[in-house]
Amino acid sequence: MARPEALVTVLCGSLLAAPGARPPAAADPVAMADLAARHGLTARGDASRLTLAGRGRTLVFEAGSRRVSVDGRAVWMNAPAAGDAAGWSLRLCDARAVIEPLLNAASVARPAPPVTVVLDPGHGGRQAGARRGADLTEKRLVLDIAKRVRRRLTADGYTVHLTRARDTDLPLADRAAACRAQNGEVFVSIHLNFAVNAQAQGIETYALPAAGFPSTAGGADDGRQCRGNLHDASNTALAFAVHSRLLAATGADDRGLRRARFDVLRDIPCPAILVECGFLSNAAEAGRLALADYRQTVAAAIAQGIADFSAGESAAAR
Ligand SMILES: [Zn+2]
Repeated sequence: MARPEALVTVLCGSLLAAPGARPPAAADPVAMADLAARHGLTARGDASRLTLAGRGRTLVFEAGSRRVSVDGRAVWMNAPAAGDAAGWSLRLCDARAVIEPLLNAASVARPAPPVTVVLDPGHGGRQAGARRGADLTEKRLVLDIAKRVRRRLTADGYTVHLTRARDTDLPLADRAAACRAQNGEVFVSIHLNFAVNAQAQGIETYALPAAGFPSTAGGADDGRQCRGNLHDASNTALAFAVHSRLLAATGADDRGLRRARFDVLRDIPCPAILVECGFLSNAAEAGRLALADYRQTVAAAIAQGIADFSAGESAAAR
């Protein structure tokens, strides 16, 4: 790794459009060197791995990977970082709506207090969601967690609405409609996970991918711009704040800040995320989620993450 800084070269010129030029597009490349210079970061690395450090953050990119480590936490970008001997770059949508919100949380649009939060406990009624035995159902556990988040936030002066406060069926479209009707300014959908592999465990937090980019898991989705994409930068900041608090409070495995075009997130008129707080298919994690004390820990972490986001605070500042 000799003279690493020399490897970080500018791939493209200024993104300031000349008169008559087309406006910048989400997929345009942005040189990491430009990003580093703009934020006063130092860059070290080689053709396979690049570390940017500064502003209380350490970001590690791997060539050809959507995953970037942010202070040791896994964050998925919309597209892979490109790195080779000629230089490193990322896409404009990742620079603006993934990396920059994490470098400067205060720059992200966020609601002014008093903040109205809409919490969405997943499933309900005939839709049990994940299940373990006769007793542990996702719909019941996430409703309990949501009520605990509400209690904490209400005590701190937030206005909080639940999309469902009882064990009732609620179509996905009605959840977004409820957020609009309540003038929600932050939306958090709360779920538990399930996998065929009983070893799978940990917490993952989802935000929408940028328009035109695929979900983390790949597969088919239409990739179109949706209402929720108006808040891409805030979605990332909210997701990272909540994900960081959840990992710190629970010690659970970090499965990453991921991206999926979930129906429940598409049409939300404010910053919106979906959290998967653990796997009911994993015996140890299900055992913890069955305990009220653990659900309180999870709920307090979600509430604190929402508070961090609302205050424009950086998780790295702690
Ligand atoms: Zn679910």
